[in-house]
Amino acid sequence: MRVLERRLAQQLDQIRAADLYRVRRVIDGAHGTRIRVDGRDCVNFCSNDYLGLASDPRIAAAAQRALGESGTGSGAAALVSGYNREHRALEEELAACLQRPRALLFSTGWAANLGVLRALLNKGDVLVADELNHASLIDGGRLSGAHYVRVKHADVGAYRCALDDSTDDSRLPIPDARLRLVVTDGVFSMDGDLAPLPELSRLCAEHGAALMVDDAHGFGVLGSNGRGTVEHLATQAPDIHVATLGKSLGCAGAFVAGSEDLIEYLIQRARSWVFSTAPPPAIAAAARAALRIVAGAEGAERRDRLRANIQRFRRGTQQLGIALAADDSGSAMAESRFLVPIQPLLIGAEAPTLAVSKALLDAGLWVAAIRPPTVPRGTSRLRITLSAAHTDAQIDRLVEALGATLRDR
Ligand SMILES: *Cc1c(COP(=O)(O)O)cnc(C)c1O
Repeated sequence: MRVLERRLAQQLDQIRAADLYRVRRVIDGAHGTRIRVDGRDCVNFCSNDYLGLASDPRIAAAAQRALGESGTGSGAAALVSGYNREHRALEEELAACLQRPRALLFSTGWAANLGVLRALLNKGDVLVADELNHASLIDGGRLSGAHYVRVKHADVGAYRCALDDSTDDSRLPIPDARLRLVVTDGVFSMDGDLAPLPELSRLCAEHGAALMVDDAHGFGVLGSNGRGTVEHLATQAPDIHVATLGKSLGCAGAFVAGSEDLIEYLIQRARSWVFSTAPPPAIAAAARAALRIVAGAEGAERRDRLRANIQRFRRGTQQLGIALAADDSGSAMAESRFLVPIQPLLIGAEAPTLAVSKALLDAGLWVAAIRPPTVPRGTSRLRITLSAAHTDAQIDRLVEALGATLRDR
């Protein structure tokens, strides 16, 4: 056998032996709270469709209208002939929503983070990044060639040390000045806690550094207008604001919002944008319809419903003595545990996490087991997510099944 075959076989064996082997389950039909998984009906508690919009008929109808007018493909990158009226309208509406001068649409959040970091950072620049940031921010940082400083999770003191250790070049002429960029998730995707954005914003201002926030899980969910973590924490707008359209908006894609010059520069230099086919116009039309809902009165109602569901779940698990992520400090961050739909239940080792997930699935409740490398070793977990579309009865069923399954172990 050649090296390729031997290596693949050996690596797959290792992954299996470590209980880290992953398989996909096939969904029939819509990806809502009621979902058909491998041929059986379940309630879905592991989607990022927090507002229940992924299967909303109004959004699908907007996509269908655009499909009728514009067809399926955009045919080329946006700088060539792929930039449709729907793309431009969506960018303008996203910028208006976040109250920033401009926004730029990417096909995925992954592409946005890689494109932005690679375009903005040069060798010699410094990237200061939370250790639990999303994988796309880690890869983008590595790809950029900048000096990568990984700081302890949400530790403002560690950020301060990292910035103190690198000199402020803001007075040097541009060819000599290093850029220092702090980058963090807004809501951490596997833990559901928030970045200390007000403190980071102040720290960056003091040090002449720039701030980038990836709010994939906050956008649509947090803040009274659904603008996300920045609105919720009432902090200054970051220099670079990334959010995605595939989670609470129930569509696909992502965008970067920021200054006129930031967006114009990305149009010239973000390789994952320049050299990639523009998304289908129908996806942009769908995202516009979703944004209208999320930013309007119905969005506020859905966020209220989501919060009520989170509280019902947390109260129920507390009554059964099931320990969720800590919530006893009384701080603003502790309060956010009742606002963020990501409710991880830490189990630790891989095999028991899989066993609990399997027992729940047998009871018709789908909660995927999250294992390394998605989370650090020894912190395998059930990443339970709630949606505005869950009913009280569905949540009660989950709480009871969790109680029974964890008791039986
Ligand atoms: C999901 C996610 C992404 C990737 O976005 P996609 O559009 O799914 O590629 C980026 N950052 C964070 C924090 C995410 O949770």
